[in-house]
Amino acid sequence: MLINYYSSWIVFIFGTIVGSFLNVCIYRIPAGLSIVSPPSSCPNCGHKIRWYENIPILSYLFLRGRCAGCKALISLRYPLVEALNGLLFVLILYSFGVIWVTPIYFLLASALVVITFIDLDHQIIPDVISLPGIGTGFLCSFLIPWITWLDSLLGIVLGGGLLLLIAMGYEYLAKREGMGGGDIKLLAMLGAFMGWKAIFPIVFIASLVGTLIGVPVMLLGKKDTKLALPFGPFLSFAAIIYLLWGDEIVTWYLNLFA
Ligand SMILES: [Zn+2]
Repeated sequence: MLINYYSSWIVFIFGTIVGSFLNVCIYRIPAGLSIVSPPSSCPNCGHKIRWYENIPILSYLFLRGRCAGCKALISLRYPLVEALNGLLFVLILYSFGVIWVTPIYFLLASALVVITFIDLDHQIIPDVISLPGIGTGFLCSFLIPWITWLDSLLGIVLGGGLLLLIAMGYEYLAKREGMGGGDIKLLAMLGAFMGWKAIFPIVFIASLVGTLIGVPVMLLGKKDTKLALPFGPFLSFAAIIYLLWGDEIVTWYLNLFA
């Protein structure tokens, strides 16, 4: 299959369908609910969502963002998550082409979407995603041509260990907890999927973007707020950037010193 206009649309639509399922995961996993049953219903009135009200993006537009039963507003985030996941799938398709590793990166990207929105909502990264993610990433390293199982194993150790050191250093200096254990398990998962060489660039990009966004947010926020910004979304964003453009970024960075 060639990557063209049609295959891009097929992959985009597939990504939005997966995105629709990710919305269910984002809502139900933190609540400890099953992600397979019961079928989705309106949280306001209990209206059962029919199949034609559950078409990614289109149903939201068709329903004008309101529940068909009670007309309660549906969060704009649902179609946005669907569109985001579709877009990520297309970007991954263009980066890697049609090979067997592409679905592995679809899986990774979708896991990161779920982690990002759960972390934004609840400031937690569920172990039920990150821990199986570490094992899955390690197993997938046998299928990914450009990393070895040893790269993956070192990625788990370095990812877990590096953030643990940063977190301990931060706690020592700032006398309060900055990064949670969830971030450490997430970085170990990223190391498992992407190998140890990805760890430093990911932490670097995440810290850079985190500072650029985090400092204004903290300055604008209340002075007494001790709420630390969740780091998971920045790690996830950095991982996607590295996945898609890592080689270019590393080359550019090394050329700065050449
Ligand atoms: Zn309703």
